[in-house]
Order: sequence, then C-alpha cells, then structure tokens
Amino acid sequence: MKSKTPKKPALGESPSERASAAGKNPPQPPFFKGGSTAPDEKGGAAPDAAPSSPAFVEVAVAAFVPDSLTYSVPPGLAGSCLPGRRVVVSLAARTVTGWVLGPAPALPPGVKVRPVLSVLDEEPQFPASMIPFFRWVASYYFHPLGETIRDALPSGVSTGESLALTLTDKGRAALDSPRTSPERRAVLEALADGKEHPEGDFVGDRGKVPRPLLLAMGHQGLAVVRRKVEKPPVSTRTETWVKGLKAESDAPARVKSRHRALEILAADGPMAARDLKARVPAVGARLSEMAGAREVELFEREVFRDPLGEAIEPDAGPLDLTDDQAGVLDSVTKALGQGFSAFLLHGVTGSGKTEVYLQAAARALAIGLSCVVLVPEIALITQMERRFRARFGDRVAVLHSGLSAGERLDQWTRIVRGLAPLVIGARSAVFAPVPSPGLFIVDEEHDESYKQESRLRYNARDLAVLRASRSKAVVLMGSATPSLVSRFNAEEGKFTELSLPRRVYDRPQPETVVVDLRGNRNAGPVLISPTLENHLSETLDRGEQALIFLNRRGFASFPMCPACGKAIGCVHCDITLTYHRARNLYLCHYCGYQRSASGGCPSCGEPQVKHLGMGTEKIQQYLEDRFPSARVARLDRDVLARKGALVSVLKGVKNREIDILVGTQMITKGHDYPHITLVGVVCADQSLGFQDYKAAERTFQILAQVAGRAGRGDRPGRVVLQTFNPEHFCVQAARNLDYEGFYATETAFRKSLAYPPYSRLAQVRVSGPQLTRTRDLAEDLAEAFHGLLDRAPEIRAAVRILGPVECPLARIGGQFRWQILFKGLTYAPFREFLGQTVRVLQSRRTAPGFSAILDVDPVNML
Ligand SMILES: [Zn+2]
Ligand SMILES: [Zn+2]
Repeated sequence: MKSKTPKKPALGESPSERASAAGKNPPQPPFFKGGSTAPDEKGGAAPDAAPSSPAFVEVAVAAFVPDSLTYSVPPGLAGSCLPGRRVVVSLAARTVTGWVLGPAPALPPGVKVRPVLSVLDEEPQFPASMIPFFRWVASYYFHPLGETIRDALPSGVSTGESLALTLTDKGRAALDSPRTSPERRAVLEALADGKEHPEGDFVGDRGKVPRPLLLAMGHQGLAVVRRKVEKPPVSTRTETWVKGLKAESDAPARVKSRHRALEILAADGPMAARDLKARVPAVGARLSEMAGAREVELFEREVFRDPLGEAIEPDAGPLDLTDDQAGVLDSVTKALGQGFSAFLLHGVTGSGKTEVYLQAAARALAIGLSCVVLVPEIALITQMERRFRARFGDRVAVLHSGLSAGERLDQWTRIVRGLAPLVIGARSAVFAPVPSPGLFIVDEEHDESYKQESRLRYNARDLAVLRASRSKAVVLMGSATPSLVSRFNAEEGKFTELSLPRRVYDRPQPETVVVDLRGNRNAGPVLISPTLENHLSETLDRGEQALIFLNRRGFASFPMCPACGKAIGCVHCDITLTYHRARNLYLCHYCGYQRSASGGCPSCGEPQVKHLGMGTEKIQQYLEDRFPSARVARLDRDVLARKGALVSVLKGVKNREIDILVGTQMITKGHDYPHITLVGVVCADQSLGFQDYKAAERTFQILAQVAGRAGRGDRPGRVVLQTFNPEHFCVQAARNLDYEGFYATETAFRKSLAYPPYSRLAQVRVSGPQLTRTRDLAEDLAEAFHGLLDRAPEIRAAVRILGPVECPLARIGGQFRWQILFKGLTYAPFREFLGQTVRVLQSRRTAPGFSAILDVDPVNML
C-alpha cells in the first residue's frame, strides 16, 4: 500500500486531522543527529521502565507523516503504553499501528488529542535505548520515523499474528441498527452464530475486511478481539544425551559396559548417547536400565543443523593465533567497553579474519556485552553461522530473509529478551534489538549489498558505525579489499586501520596469469583460452578442483537475429534479453519479462536466432564438452531458485564430488574449500564498462576476491585472468594483489572529479510510464533545485547539481528513468540543501505512476 513517492505529509491533509493528533515535534532540522543530550544505548537514562502512567505518549506511526505524534493514554492502558510497544491509534479517518517512543509533555490547554486505542504487545519490540538511533536514521535518510522503525523490524515481527473475534451484546444490538456500515455489518453477521471467528472469515463487498477496522470494532465494544501469535512450527531436532549421576555402578562387575560408561561420563562429562555408544557399544541396551537405577540421567538436547544439513559439533575452542591475528585481537579487545572505536581490518584472503571475529565476540560476551555480526549474503551467513554455532551454541540468533516469518519472530524475541547475545545476520541485523551492544562486526565491509535499495535506503555498514558510536561500542569492519571510502576514513583518522597481511600457516598468495584475449578477436569469441584450458586439465589430473567465474547467468547475453539484424530486447526495458537454454526462453534480468525461445525472432519470425554473448550456462556446457570425464556444476541465481540446490552444490564441492564449479559473483566470496587450486576468470573486464564512477573499484574487488578462493589448503593456488584490457590498472593491481597501487590510482581519479570520498552524493531518481512527462518532471525538479542554490550563496559554494540526465538503464519494467545527482563538497551546507530538496519533493504532487525519490549515499548509479 505504500508508494515509493514521498507523499505530501498526511498530517497536513485536512484540518480535522490536525485536531485529532497534534504533531509533537516540528519538522526535523536537517542536521538533527539525535541530539547530544539524548541517552545513549547503554546509558541508564532510558530504561524501559518509563513513568508508569504518562498522560500523553509520543507515538511514531507507520505512515508517511513527518515525525512522531502525541496521543493521550486512557486509564485502562496507563500501565502498558511503554516504549517499544506497538499501539493502535487513529490518524485522520484511518486506524494505524505505531510504536510508543515515550511519555510526551502535556499539551497546552485547548489542544485536543486522540487516545491510544489499544496496545498490541506484552513486551517491547526493541529496547527504549534504540529510539535515539532510530531518530537519527530517519533524519539522515529523510525517511518518516514510524516508517523507519517499521522497515527496521523484520516483517515477521509485525505480521506474525492474526485476530479472532467474538460478538458482544453491543455488537448484536448494532446488527439491528440502520446506522451500521456495510463492512461492519458483514463482520457482525459472520459473528451472529456466537462463535469465535478468525479474521479470514470476514469478507465485505470490497473483499477482506481490513484489520484496523476489526481492531476498531473491538475498541468500540462491538466484538471481543483476541490476538493470536502465528508461529509456524519451527522445526527443531533433538537428540538424547547422557549425564552421569554416580561415580560407581551398582551393577555386578560382569556388566562391564555400565561401569565403563560411568567412568567415561565422570571423566568427560555429559555427552550424546550416540557418542557414548560409539565408545562402549554394549551400553546401548543398558541406558534405560541405568537411568532407572539413577546412575545416569537421559535428556533431550536441541541439535543445531548447519546449512549442509549436518549437526554442528562444538568446535575445539579458540584456535592458536598467528602473531598478526593476536595483535589485531588485542587492539580490538582492549577497546571493548571503553567507549566508541572503529577499526578497519584489512586482511588478505585466507588470513584468518573469522577466527579473530570469533575470539573478539567471545571477549565481548565475557564482559556482558552483546555482539552483532553483519554478513552480506545469505550463503555466507550460513557459513558464518556454522562457525559461530560451533563455538557459541544456542547463544547465537540469526536474522535474514531466508527465515520464515515465524522463525524470524522467534529469533527477534530471543534477542529482545537477552537470551541470544550474539546475532548474525544480513544488513537488517544492524537493527537487532540487543540490550547492551558492545561489538559490531561488519564482514566484507566493502560489499554493496549492505545498501538497501528500496523504502528506507540505508547502508548497514554505515549504520553499524553510527550505532556503535551512539552506544559507545566497538565496530570492526573487515575486508580483503576495503572500500575506498573506509580506507580513506582510516587515513583521515576516523577509523583505526589493522591489518592481516599474510595468510595463515604462511600459505602463499595464489600466482596470477593474465591472458590477453585481444589476439583472438578474429577467431570468434573465446570462452576458455588455451592457457586456461591447460591449467584446467593439469588441475583435474592432480585430482584438485577449479572455480570458473563469469558474472552473468544464462546461456547467451546477446541473442541476435541474423535475418533482420535486431537484438532480441525486453518489451519493458532498454535491455537485451538473455537466452536461458535449460528453460528455452529469453529472460529480462531487470524486470523478469520472459518469452519462449521457440518462436524465433519476434520481429521477422526467423527461426534461427544467433545466441551471442556469454553466460554461465554456456561456459558449463563448453566445459562439459571439453572435459567429458570432469564433474561440472554451476552456481548462480537460476540454480539457487531450486530448493536445496545451494546446499547440494556446496556439499558437492566440499565432498569433492564436483571438479569444476562455474558461477557468478556468489562463488567469489567467503567459501573456504581447501582443494580448490585453480580459479579462472572468463572475462575480467566485464564490469569495467559500466557508466559508474565505482566501476574500477568494483572490478578490482571482484577480481581480488575471486582470486582469493584459490590455494586455501596445503597446495598452492593459481589464478588465470582472461581480459581484453591487460594494461588496465585494475587488472594489473588485481594480478599483483596490489591494493595500495590500486588505491593510489583510484583516489587520484576520484579527487580530480570530486567523487566520494572527496564529496558526498545524493540522487533524486525520477521515473514514470511516459518518457516526455518523466523528463519534464525531472527538468522541473532540477530547476527548483537550482533555484534553492540561487537563494543561498553559502550552499551554492558547497553543492553541485548534475543533470537531469537519462539513467544509463533508461527504461526498466516500463518505467522511464531520469536522475539528478547532487555532490556535496562540504557536509553541513549539503545536509541543509538536502533538507530543502525534500521539502520540494514533498510539495509536488506527482501524477499516479510517477515518482521522485531521494537516495542519500546512493550505490546504484545505473
Ligand atoms: Zn529477425
Ligand atoms: Zn525487462
């Protein structure tokens, strides 16, 4: 129901609304940073035990209103309107949910406010100490506060419940009243049998009766509303454990197994019955007898499963650290509990960053602080989770989109209650409601998937730093290829740089061979050069494994008709479709449009379309043809769409049932398989051509990361980079693993053009279903933005407006796309300018289907 368009604030829509809910705060000043006097997350100044019966509360409603609103607290709810709990309130003619932020000051006499209608939660959804952080986030991204909170909470938290209604006498009387609205009547009629009905039973003329109306009916006494938390059965698995209760068995000496079992249990402590049976096979039949004699106790224990479906055994505890690792750990742990510090850990691939994370987390937990670990992708989260669960067992909670709503709710609840002081998750875990955050770890900090690209457009890496600073905690950002901006922050002294320059066990970095593809142009497109092919067959001969990387899924990225010469394009986007052979269709990777490939060329009907351009499917097929005895598998989003596919592929690599793995970017990160000794990059230049100031940085990062997959075991690794630009500084830097060289060249380029880190960016993206009207809207807005500069010379000196220009991807999903880019050379005036642009955007009513949104610190420039 929410449109992406920043709407005109609902608060201003009607005078009656103003009387109903008085705006508590004036519009936020552009530099609002949560206020220096606001309590920090660990301070005792913001306990959940707010004054027990405030007359008024401040509520952030989940709607496009600028800020929080004040509501009165009816006597019956006085004890339960506490910070972090959800409430139902009226907003104009609607009933909406919101979150209590705390007591609000009494309003001047004569100002009327509406009451809170009901309180939805018995316990808060987040600690009150997080409220200043939410305020800062809303202010920084110019996003309404209630929407910010809603977007921060996992969706399972707000949707994992349902209502059930029963009719009251008042409701029965209303059934006969002519003044009862048709929708209410539909509900009352369904309830007329006197039984309790679930909300799905209420269907009016306009479809399902909306939940707020049902809640309102409860408030009006027409029905008794009962809330049921919907928890899908979370599948846990248990196994039987044995604990020794006595040192000696009463059994006769000839029953050796009972005596032996008690000896083992006394020496090694409780263990799984399975393990005990492995050591004393005859004890299996005796266990229940021993339990009956009170010699042992049998109990069920939850088994955590890793993503490969195997039980996670506790690990052997902390590993011995290299001197480098010990130095890094020492710096981090010394800072724990001592106020805010930010560390940038530059650790080459294979240098043992994860072990440092584990030991730093252990130290935080040991002094009573919680730890949040951010990982960019689900496939990597499951690996990180495995390591952390093996070390920390059930103190770990996980938050990511791969969980069901019920599972997410369970995890969230465990975190709020302080039962899981260690949280691992994707970007949204930066909002994990840990009660006393002490350490934030951001793995692969350079990864662009930390940026949320819809609704609240936040960057989780940046918010981790911010939240750490607010809660006087430590943030540790790790990467083999730190982002330029983070590295720059380290040089500026904002972050402390730590480094792990060597691989563990002194394993060498892989050796890199660059293959120049240019000579082959006339001989047709090269998929696998002779050099790479030779290395592949040698690798296979040695019984080792290879990764082949190409960041494009499908079979052919450029299907073209030889008869009419046209490329097969998407009807909704300015993009060529990709041919997917397994499904025999053309697919748009941007909007999902697909058409069958059996019809030939859509323009002229020519049946034999040429499938030019590469994709992972084509590479896989090529390799299967060239190496018929090799077991070739593929990992990309197409494969992932099949349930269980990720697990089976990773398992296949681990168990060496796969010899060559072909894949997209998802194979480049994190995975640690010791028998992969060769990495082939089919086309190193692939991402260089994008019209984006970050193209070089992204390319360098991908190449360095994928190269890092090679040689993580005892055998040395080798990387083959195929490229059309062997002299390009990115390719050279990746070949030599020369981060410093890359950094020097790239920062000079950024400085000359005033791109980050030498400026800040924000972008207004304008889109709509008609080209001319979209362009007109963009031009109109740009003119208004220029007008802002004309009126304020001090801002004019600090801000550059670029555009409007058509986006490089000019049309996606039928929407024409234009952009206006803002460059801020000085922070404060730039923020003030952005605040003014938001007011311009809010004051324009855009036609239905058109939108103009502000993205602060944009990542996607296409
Ligand atoms: Zn044709
Ligand atoms: Zn499309």
